[in-house]
Amino acid sequence: MLDIKITKTTNPKPLPTEDNPLVFGTIFTDHMYVMEYTKGQGWHDPEIMPYQPISLDPSAMVFHYGQEMFEGLKAYKTEDGRILLFRPDKNIERANNSNKRLEIPKIPEDDFLNAIKTLVKVDAAWIPTKPGTSLYIRPFVIATDPFLGVRPSDTYKFIIILSPVGAYYPEGLNPVKIWIEDEYVRAVRGGIGEAKTGGNYVASLAAQIKAHDEGYSQVLWLDGVERKYIEEVGAMNIFFKINGTVVTPMLNGSILPGVTRNTCIQLCKEWGLPVEERRISVDELVEAAKNGTLEEVWGSGTAAVISPVGHLRYENDVFQIADGGIGEVSQKLYDTVTGIQLGKLEDKHGWTVE
Ligand code: PMP
Repeated sequence: MLDIKITKTTNPKPLPTEDNPLVFGTIFTDHMYVMEYTKGQGWHDPEIMPYQPISLDPSAMVFHYGQEMFEGLKAYKTEDGRILLFRPDKNIERANNSNKRLEIPKIPEDDFLNAIKTLVKVDAAWIPTKPGTSLYIRPFVIATDPFLGVRPSDTYKFIIILSPVGAYYPEGLNPVKIWIEDEYVRAVRGGIGEAKTGGNYVASLAAQIKAHDEGYSQVLWLDGVERKYIEEVGAMNIFFKINGTVVTPMLNGSILPGVTRNTCIQLCKEWGLPVEERRISVDELVEAAKNGTLEEVWGSGTAAVISPVGHLRYENDVFQIADGGIGEVSQKLYDTVTGIQLGKLEDKHGWTVE
């Protein structure tokens, strides 16, 4: 494992005050982690330094062909003052799967975890403690060769920045309205949908604006070929409880394999609920909504953990789910996962890392 050089800031920023709402992604801590990659040499010279702008050649490949990967996870401070990460091994594994798909060199797992742990420790004072708050961790890699030809870059920067974030639901779980998109698509099988990379998110913007304008908070994507099968939400995977069975789209190459998705599946199975990972068509969903067997719908993701869905819109129909409220399984998943993340419930699975 490489040694990280640490240079602390001599000019620390004031910490956010207790009443700061910590709007997602707007505040950054005092330090960042940077490691370089050079072809022939591999990853080298990891450093923690004061948070600062980076200088890149305008021809840097990331600006032109989008060769970049990012991740998202959180650190939580427990009541007894410990700092916990939730399943960071899963994010590291997914990052390297994304890297593979994007022709970015693999990052050694031990250096990756050491980078996160060391940076979080350096900026530990920035981890907020009000209920529901956390420190969001954003690792990312960018291609830096100054070159306009289309090929994988020979040089990269791996950077990690940190951002204290407020409670997603300051007043407790709140059902969201979801727009099933039938015109635009996000990703196709064989494409880059299962990689966490900027291209998938820029592809989603037009539909997201359309849905927002109509009063919906997120888009539910259908498959990119037939626009017939359910895929995932803008930044969440999706679950349905139909007639007692938990159903979620199987990982087919175009869906992001969510860490929270994996956690939900495992917990539901342990609770004795039948769980099916399979293709589910929008027609089957509409039928279940119409005949009263669609009991619950929720999204799963790092940001909100669980987002109960109160309304689903498809074409000209709007379906109300669980009377527009919060279903039993959604609530239980939320309580269990956040309980483990905050060290309040026993971590039987060894999901947290101190
Ligand atoms: N799908 C997409 C497109 C996402 O951006 C996210 C957020 N990372 C998820 C699903 C949920 O993944 P996770 O549970 O790992 O946050």
